[in-house]
Amino acid sequence: GRLAPAPRLRPDDVFIAVKTTQKNHGPRLGLLLRTWISRARQQTFIFTDGDDPELQLQGGGHVINTNCSAVHTRQALCCKMAVEYDKFIESGRKWFCHVDDDNYVNPEGLLQLLSTFSPSQDVYLGRPSLDHPIEAAERVQGGGTVTTVKFWFATGGAGFCLSRGLALKMSPWASLGSFMSTAERVRLPDDCTVGYIVEGLLGARLLPSSLFHSHLENLQRLPPDAVLQQVTLSYGGPENPRNVVNVAGGFSLQQDPTRFKSVHCLLYPDTDWCPVHKQS
Ligand code: UDP
Ligand code: MN
Repeated sequence: GRLAPAPRLRPDDVFIAVKTTQKNHGPRLGLLLRTWISRARQQTFIFTDGDDPELQLQGGGHVINTNCSAVHTRQALCCKMAVEYDKFIESGRKWFCHVDDDNYVNPEGLLQLLSTFSPSQDVYLGRPSLDHPIEAAERVQGGGTVTTVKFWFATGGAGFCLSRGLALKMSPWASLGSFMSTAERVRLPDDCTVGYIVEGLLGARLLPSSLFHSHLENLQRLPPDAVLQQVTLSYGGPENPRNVVNVAGGFSLQQDPTRFKSVHCLLYPDTDWCPVHKQS
């Protein structure tokens, strides 16, 4: 007989880990909770480094205190990634996606993208942060041998996704404890370490996607009519306030410096705080 069609991918098949830190709860998380997270409650898990009862309340039980230290060091960031990975494995879900707390996620766009792949295959999807593979010195455990390893990695600031199949294969190098020592082997940040495990150690490949965006790009260059089709967006922040996506809508740059509210109201105009447009 014929094979039954694969069941459609459901929102709660996806695990979206948002990396944040105590000092960003107010400035960054509030905006995300009011915008895209409000449409992706079941999928989203917030990974932070301090207890915050108010965030806990807003996050509806999906806030995880990693107890990793609240500093911007390789060790602290890798500690968070390791906890994200472990919680994903524990969740039993089909897809792991990681984003930063300055990313907007289009939940439907993400679901649509992931549904074109099988979670049992090796899938590592994201935006390469360089236009060439990174070359790293690999310290092999035991002896003092150093070899060179070349691999592509997806920039964490644009968000990336891993299939469950691939994530399971990563476990000897990625589960808690081992991710930290894997990162030490190449002395690279968390997102590079993911690329090292996938490409350098497992021989799988990054599938580049131009639908993921970080503020390392010139976000103004995204055509306005393409913005709503993207899977992730970002913004330049106080150091680069003009690096934002170009969208019209009911909010001025002053009212909506990140443009996330404007994007959200274009995607979900029925949101109660969105400007009401006259029917024509
Ligand atoms: N972050 C963190 N701990 C820190 C500083 C930053 O977990 O001590 C997180 C932050 O919440 C964000 C990501 O790391 O999700 C990247 O930080 P940021 O956007 O400030 O810097 P970038 O690397 O993008 O310039
Ligand atoms: Mn950032």
